[in-house]
Amino acid sequence: MPEPSIYQKSTPTFANQYIPNLEPRPLTDFLPSEFMATQPPALPRVSEREVVKHYTRLSQKNFSIDTGFYPLGSCTMKYNPKVNDWAAFLPGLAQIHPYQPETTVQGALKLIYDLGTLLCEITGLAEASLQPAAGAHGELTGILMIRAYHEAQGQTAQRRVVLVPDSAHGTNPATATMAGYQVKEVRSNSEGLVDIDHLKALLDESTAALMLTNPNTVGLFEENIVEIARLVHEAGGLLYYDGANLNAIAGLARPGDMGFDVVHLNLHKTFSTPHGGGGPGCGPVVANQQLAPFLPKPRVVRASSPEGEIYHLEANYPDSIGRIKGFYGNFGVMVRAFTYITTLGADGLRQSSQDAILNANFLRHLLKDHYTPSHSHKPCMHEFVVSALKQKKAGTSAGGIAKRLLDYGFHSPTMYWPAIVPEALMIEPTETETPTTLRQFADALIKIDHEIEQDPEFVNHAPHNLAIGRVDEAKAARNPQLTWQ
Ligand SMILES: *Cc1c(COP(=O)(O)O)cnc(C)c1O
Repeated sequence: MPEPSIYQKSTPTFANQYIPNLEPRPLTDFLPSEFMATQPPALPRVSEREVVKHYTRLSQKNFSIDTGFYPLGSCTMKYNPKVNDWAAFLPGLAQIHPYQPETTVQGALKLIYDLGTLLCEITGLAEASLQPAAGAHGELTGILMIRAYHEAQGQTAQRRVVLVPDSAHGTNPATATMAGYQVKEVRSNSEGLVDIDHLKALLDESTAALMLTNPNTVGLFEENIVEIARLVHEAGGLLYYDGANLNAIAGLARPGDMGFDVVHLNLHKTFSTPHGGGGPGCGPVVANQQLAPFLPKPRVVRASSPEGEIYHLEANYPDSIGRIKGFYGNFGVMVRAFTYITTLGADGLRQSSQDAILNANFLRHLLKDHYTPSHSHKPCMHEFVVSALKQKKAGTSAGGIAKRLLDYGFHSPTMYWPAIVPEALMIEPTETETPTTLRQFADALIKIDHEIEQDPEFVNHAPHNLAIGRVDEAKAARNPQLTWQ
């Protein structure tokens, strides 16, 4: 049954007799009169009981990571241990204010400093900035640092091209364009890896950087990465690592050791902050010695004093690209990541990457006779891509399969991306799911495959058992109604 809006539930004459009237201080005490409205806002008048029922019901119509399997590839929708939320909500961390004097927030500054050190160790690089608020924000920061580096070499006009593989996340070419670069696409070969000959043909003195993710977006490890790094560096370019999906390699391999110069990470994917719905996130940037001078400022530094170690925000970095986010960045996300990394420890991090890889390969194996793996010859990393071309020929589509999965209680995989795979379904099970869940998910997909053979139209009209059936997604995206009518 559709849930009426809170305004439809409002009774204009309703007087709430259960909430004490606290006689708040009049707003006129601290707001200048020109900012005061003449009429009070038309808020709904509903009892606390009705409000709780309303929002709890709405939340139960939604799909969530706490209630179901969420194999959304490239998004790492893993279960986030609740202890990390507990730490982020500790009053000493949650109730501090960015305008407080540094002497009163030493613990928070130490946490930021220590988390930066841990991320340097995990990535094999020299220095970190935790300012960026998202993955794409980290990318922009990293590419602006690369631009500043070429500027410092006196090569601004010459180095104008950023190379991006044809399988790249859409934010990569968008980032390079926003930073003022021309984007050229590097082809993937039949194995799903960077086509080295095409890369060689594109590299020259105009190359500013190559942006790469490893494992790449079809879930395969770029095994020629050391040669790729050598080629890019010989051409005078730099190597940018999109580390949004560190879930496959944390504790196993380090971008710095592969030859990358600068990386961003998504703490809100790999390091235990829930995401989706728009934030807040944290996309730290970690750089080698060569690029470290260009990192954003201010940075948290540690100094010795007679009373012991003190931490403070240092802004004296003449080569820095400057500030890219207010205050310290999204601190709560950092607390969760710090708690996550220190409670797992090095062995735990490595184990979680290994389990993520094992789960992905197990699931791919269960599905391989029904859904065609995009590049079947090699084991995958933490995710894999199948093509629903066979199902498309039978009269449905990747989108139809995704909608039908909702009827079986599963969130859809990522669809139609990467674009180099037709009818792509990109599946990332993550390390936090049991073999039983993976079997149930595979069973559902196999049942759907049989349903398509019987009656593709039935699948095309799914979901059949949810509060809302097919919505017009294109219309919702182009003409969003964001306010209550
Ligand atoms: C998620 C993702 C991004 C972007 O991260 P946001 O926090 O959404 O900006 C970039 N690259 C890859 C490979 C990703 O999966």
